[in-house]
Amino acid sequence: MSKKVNRRDLIRLGLTSSLLGVFNFKSLAKTSINITNVSSEDEIKPIVISTWNHGIAANKAAWEIIKKNGSSLDAVEFGVRVTESDLTNRSVGIGGYPDIDGHVTLDACIMDQNSNCGSVAFLEGIAHPISVARAVMEKTPHVMLVGKGAKKFALAHDFKKISTPIPEVKKEWKAWKKKHNKLLKTPAVNTENHDTIGMLAIDNNGNISGSCTTSGWAYKMHGRVGDSPIIGAGLFVDNEIGAACATGVGESIIKIAGSHTVVECMRNGYSPQEACEEAIKRIIKKQGNVKDLQCCFIALDKFGNTGAHSIRDGFNYAIKNNDFEGIKNSSYSI
Ligand code: ASP
Repeated sequence: MSKKVNRRDLIRLGLTSSLLGVFNFKSLAKTSINITNVSSEDEIKPIVISTWNHGIAANKAAWEIIKKNGSSLDAVEFGVRVTESDLTNRSVGIGGYPDIDGHVTLDACIMDQNSNCGSVAFLEGIAHPISVARAVMEKTPHVMLVGKGAKKFALAHDFKKISTPIPEVKKEWKAWKKKHNKLLKTPAVNTENHDTIGMLAIDNNGNISGSCTTSGWAYKMHGRVGDSPIIGAGLFVDNEIGAACATGVGESIIKIAGSHTVVECMRNGYSPQEACEEAIKRIIKKQGNVKDLQCCFIALDKFGNTGAHSIRDGFNYAIKNNDFEGIKNSSYSI
């Protein structure tokens, strides 16, 4: 059986830019061609993908939900809650490092297949910012709540108050302050003092959702918010196309609307891998000096194809689907 497809269908079919490059987009938009056997491309391939090593445990929890025909939205929320609950994790959740003034301020966002989204930033003393972000999405007319307002909302919705920093972290922060002899300045980002969990999932209905949660850059300026709670920067989902999320220096990711850029590249025919590479290329070009800068993206398309790319070596990500469970090292540019 043959089916008529136009340019948009070709992109939906996951044909990469290298193949599409053979055609002229403008003329393709007006024409159509006949191709056969398209049905296998429409097969739904459930998958969970998330950033860094901590993604392994988070993916496991998310996959339990997908396996039982749960929604990708539940999967990405309950998946990253595992990381938020880990008090030994110094870059996500209440075990995270504080800002320069000793406040642990948490950022998170979530987005579903209908482009509903919710976000919290600069939230203190609440264990699960990702669930507060979901409550913002589902129970308010807003997308984003920050600071005291976000906390007031969380407490009004029965989220428990937690004292932060936790004692071990408070001790480390005090030692850091002493060492820096009161000349307090936010330290440059290195592999030790940041990270985020970003998670993307496709469920058995083919719906995509994403989540992103972090305590941000260790010893950041009080009031600083990175890319992680910003829809389009730290996370973006478009159910027709795919999704992306980011980790690394939030300031550089925000400047190119990173995750949205990745999804838009996929909309224009790039594979998830090519789209992540293009976004990193753009950061490098805009930023000029990328010495010590690390930014990373993961992405998936509607068909469960994945991609990941970072500025430099050292980024890894976790995948779980029916064929594979484990960590992969990302490709990198320099
Ligand atoms: N993107 C996070 C932030 O800038 C940190 C990270 O993922 O490394 O707060």
